[in-house]
Amino acid sequence: MTTSPVPPRWQQVAAAAGLLDADGGVRATVFAEMSALAARTGALNLGQGFPDVDGPAPVARAAADAVLAGHNQYPPGPGIPALRQAVAAHRAARYGTTLDPDREVLVTTGATEALAAAVLALTGPGDEVLTLEPFYDSYAAVVAMAGARHTTAPLVATPDGFRLDADALAAAVTPRTRLLLLNSPHNPTGAVLRRDELEAVARLAVAHDLLVVTDEVYEHLTFGVPHVPLATLPGMAGRTLTVSSSGKTFSFTGWKIGWVTGPEELVTAVRTVKQFLTYVSGAPFQPAVAAALTDPAALAWVDDLVASLAGRRDLLAAGLREAGFDVVRPDGTYFVLADAAPLGYADGVALCRDLPALAGVVGVPVRAFTQPGSAADRALGSWVRFTFVKRREVLEEAVARLARLRTAV
Ligand SMILES: *Cc1c(COP(=O)(O)O)cnc(C)c1O
Repeated sequence: MTTSPVPPRWQQVAAAAGLLDADGGVRATVFAEMSALAARTGALNLGQGFPDVDGPAPVARAAADAVLAGHNQYPPGPGIPALRQAVAAHRAARYGTTLDPDREVLVTTGATEALAAAVLALTGPGDEVLTLEPFYDSYAAVVAMAGARHTTAPLVATPDGFRLDADALAAAVTPRTRLLLLNSPHNPTGAVLRRDELEAVARLAVAHDLLVVTDEVYEHLTFGVPHVPLATLPGMAGRTLTVSSSGKTFSFTGWKIGWVTGPEELVTAVRTVKQFLTYVSGAPFQPAVAAALTDPAALAWVDDLVASLAGRRDLLAAGLREAGFDVVRPDGTYFVLADAAPLGYADGVALCRDLPALAGVVGVPVRAFTQPGSAADRALGSWVRFTFVKRREVLEEAVARLARLRTAV
């Protein structure tokens, strides 16, 4: 067999995701490791962020009805017209954005596929893709799939939440930077970038003529602070692809109906790649999501979810503080970050491995979302991500168990 000097792309992906062992083997992600640990020990799993209560019953019924009504063959490649129209109508109502549903909206297999198709469509070898750090775990992998280089700028823990370091972001831009991939509301920190932070991002994008992809899957899930889409800022509409999804908004994370919106040339580029990744997806789910996005009752359900999530965030954050962690208040998403350093743990990975035995709870180390040795990796090495998108009873039990840490360590 001939050997290539370049590792096969799957190894580059595994390496970028931090999954390559020294002997060339591939290890499980820390998410899989922690979920297995939870299953083995009976610990409460606050590691993986998915709701333990489904979304609105009428929306689920609409999907079931669609199956029985025969929506079971390939839908149109760009998504069914009703869903593209609903996405455009929803963004018009919420953000005042005008979109042509036929040219500027594309339905995808979750936000994950939209992000992958966008990065593959717009970047390649020699390009840099700049993201915030810590970052959602699929970013490093898709940048590696594209053969591009992943550069980052840290979010910084402050008494006022995790905040953008605008100078660090500016310093991370080089002549090779092609794409800025921005996530707000941000997983894992829960940061919701303020307008002044987004204005700094927009100025940078315009000054360096960058393409921008925004990951806004938590656009609805903010607690008392507004979510501002970057595409609505001056100079941004023509260079920005906005990605969102029904999974987090309606608590149907397994449906995998997402979408990307933006200028026709960029959406066409993404569609060109997307059609050979999955072609289409979720025929019976598309009409259900289309109805939900424009149904006042379903949107009122989302408002109730947000109010309830804010209360659950407060419950878990207070419990973590009580247990001895330092906690930075998240303004959105499903997650809160907690620093284990005050408990004597310099390494969040070590705490996560010990936590089931110490307190019967599972979290995910923030180092699952950083590049080894980076500024963010060093600053957040002792931090752990916990999800609060679990029933109140589950969180109350978790808080009671975490209180044991006070005496255990
Ligand atoms: C959950 C999540 C996604 C994936 O969304 P899907 O629609 O399930 O593919 C993308 N980005 C972030 C930040 C997420 O938390």
